Amino acid sequence: MAELQRRKVLVTGGAGFLGSHLCERLLADGADVLCVDNYFTGTRDNILHLQNHPHFEMMRHDVTFPLYVEVDEIYNLACPASPVHYQHDPVQTTKTSVHGAINMLGLAKRLRSRIFQASTSEVYGDPQQHPQTESYWGHVNPIGFRACYDEGKRCAETLFFDYHRQHALPIKVARIFNTYGPRMHPNDGRVVSNFVVQALRGESITIYGEGEQTRSFCYVDDLIEGFVRLMASREDFTGPVNLGNPDEFSIRELAEAVIELTGSASKIVHKELPQDDPQRRRPDISLAGKELDWAPKTPLREGLLPTIAYFDKLLSD
Ligand code: NAD
Ligand code: UDP
Repeated sequence: MAELQRRKVLVTGGAGFLGSHLCERLLADGADVLCVDNYFTGTRDNILHLQNHPHFEMMRHDVTFPLYVEVDEIYNLACPASPVHYQHDPVQTTKTSVHGAINMLGLAKRLRSRIFQASTSEVYGDPQQHPQTESYWGHVNPIGFRACYDEGKRCAETLFFDYHRQHALPIKVARIFNTYGPRMHPNDGRVVSNFVVQALRGESITIYGEGEQTRSFCYVDDLIEGFVRLMASREDFTGPVNLGNPDEFSIRELAEAVIELTGSASKIVHKELPQDDPQRRRPDISLAGKELDWAPKTPLREGLLPTIAYFDKLLSD
């Protein structure tokens, strides 16, 4: 009987950084997890420790193609997330967001299942409102290098809300702000992984521009708690809801913290600021507080320690 009642959950992008942590959490909560991934940026290593779990199943599949499975809930995370990766094949990035959303929404419509979308703070672009609330429509360059990701994710949100309005589909849309932790890709070009890897290798720490631009960094465990709470939220709560840590740091402050915590002798060097690089980013998370009773708990320096330990082991293996 317990087997019949076990919730079956699909996680697309499950072999990636966030997806692998989500799979772990759902298994710990007693779910049956079907992890779908095409291994574009994710790896089998991220889920190796789950492979023999009796309630975990892995399927290689590209979400730009239809998927026919039977599940009770869907978390749609499949999409390269770092600028280096999503700009590698920008057309495929847009397809993954848009066709992927259409396919997963079609699946949810047939199954009448709840469906969660991993949207992003990038829908706010280079924001002119600070901090960003969910009611802000954003400031995105539709033809820039980041557009394949930003506009793809914006169109995916449109599709989610149209499926909700047109087909009464129960949707849950999270706007995720910069998140870090173990299993980030070492070469994904994101600032936390770059700085930690550079510090551990004793290489120069590359700050783009003056380092006065800000970001707010959320530790992965805190974020996953937000995902699970959002999926379990009251039926008529759709989001979009910001999930992130509102503690704002300049990129220079992050570099200094990484140098201090690794005890590295690395020096800071400055490189050109990429085009359309947002100057400031900090979530207003009052909606998540009110609807999900959620707030991140892990301060930056505390979350950097297991992240540094992860990369240290990875680099010495
Ligand atoms: P990631 O690159 O580690 O994971 C993405 C996963 O999706 C990878 O395993 C990749 O192989 C898979 N994938 C890509 N294209 C696919 C396709 N067409 N079909 C099937 N699988 C595919 O990135 P992440 O940081 O874990 O991000 C997960 C999700 O969260 C993404 O949708 C991303 O946009 C969103 N997000 C992440 C952050 C962050 O800070 N990490 C911030 C905002 C939004
Ligand atoms: N950045 C940096 N050095 C690096 C990598 C990134 O100074 O080696 C900066 C980047 O220009 C941006 C910030 O750090 O201002 C965050 O970059 P990331 O790619 O991690 O995320 P996003 O820009 O998507 O928020």
